[in-house]
Amino acid sequence: MATSTDVPNLKINSSRLMTSLHESCEFGKAHPYGTHETETGMARLALNDADKAVRKWYIQQAESLGCKITIDQMGNVFAVRPGKDSTAPPVMMGSHLDTQPTGGRYDGILGMLAGLEVLRTLHDSKYQSEGSIGVVNWTNEEGARFPIITVSSAVWSGALPIEAAWKCKEVTPSPDGNRYTMKEELERIGFMGHHPASYEAQPIAAHFELHIEQGPILEDERRKIGVVTGGQAYKWFEVVIKGRDSHAGTTPMAARKDSVLAAAKMIVESNKIAKAHSGLITTGIIEMEPGSVNTMAHTTRFTLDIRHPSDTVMAQIEDECRKRFSAIAADDSERGVSLEWRQLTANPAVTFHQDCISVIEQAAEDTTADLPRTSEDGKLWKHMVSGAGHDSFHTSRRCPTGMIFTPTRDGLSHTPTEYCSAEDCALGAQVLLGAVLRYDRLRAEMGLLTEK
Ligand SMILES: [Zn+2]
Repeated sequence: MATSTDVPNLKINSSRLMTSLHESCEFGKAHPYGTHETETGMARLALNDADKAVRKWYIQQAESLGCKITIDQMGNVFAVRPGKDSTAPPVMMGSHLDTQPTGGRYDGILGMLAGLEVLRTLHDSKYQSEGSIGVVNWTNEEGARFPIITVSSAVWSGALPIEAAWKCKEVTPSPDGNRYTMKEELERIGFMGHHPASYEAQPIAAHFELHIEQGPILEDERRKIGVVTGGQAYKWFEVVIKGRDSHAGTTPMAARKDSVLAAAKMIVESNKIAKAHSGLITTGIIEMEPGSVNTMAHTTRFTLDIRHPSDTVMAQIEDECRKRFSAIAADDSERGVSLEWRQLTANPAVTFHQDCISVIEQAAEDTTADLPRTSEDGKLWKHMVSGAGHDSFHTSRRCPTGMIFTPTRDGLSHTPTEYCSAEDCALGAQVLLGAVLRYDRLRAEMGLLTEK
């Protein structure tokens, strides 16, 4: 496979990166937890007024570097710095500026501000890249306000029709009591672009995303960089159990059709099955009807979130759960309850592109070469599989994609105290710069560009 190590030794400015990151967090800051002005979380839900303000701020910063801005019909913002060949599709660094309602300052935001810092570094040194390089802000990545995660990269990749995204309504009503759609809010904040939201209209040569790990592995192993090789498969289900409601004091134990008891047994069983396959399984929601202390519930609904890096093992876990749940439902001691599975979402495992993985490895090796060897084996980066979903999963279906992880304090994310140290943010941004420059050189070497 082709490799390229011949890239200039440019260094990002770490204090400028952190100053800008915190400046951008002035839009939508919330949930203070400490005394320092940067010790707050974020509540910058997609397409709210704070999101509008940070988007305008971001565009201004990018325009001052000579970037061309394109806004598509999902409000995705593409800021592109022209290269020697400005006609070929750009290499993009992408992530998101929206947050959870009780979010932190790093999830998504680090990737966006590191991308800006890379462009500033290129601008300062008047570096002429072979092809164009840019940053993209994907709208409503979190799925917190409008409940479809990574919805806008999904539309761009062709995985979701734009009408389905546009009509998605906010989960919580706005202060005026209305629940607005994504389309209405895109129009309201002035980010309904004219450009079609599609790969065909806005092709990308490669997509690189720097993101906090959101888990404990890098910190536990005292490493600095995760080179992400892909994302695990995940499926969501709602399982509905129907039994019979009857009096808690007069129905003998042997005469019951208790939907809660059956659900409880199934959840315990699902946990054993996932563990046996080294997978993950989670029940996050349980609802019972009618909901009375002295009446058995006639209906119990619970969710299952199943994850595994392999599609095959994922299917085995699902299959075993289905068999065991059916057996529990039919069990004589529960006197037979009915069981129904409803699939909410299905996402196959994602494998990132080897060229992207290689240039990230080289950049990680270079960037960490002179640091103290803190990990047990002395290596400061490792291959990882992403546990969470990201926009990069959708881009990988259309263009070579890679992701870089940075350590996350205590593995905590989606919380105001979410934290990645300034040193680790800077290392991540430096790896992003190194990877993008290597990829830029690589595609020139592969003859994919023409000098204009
Ligand atoms: Zn994120």
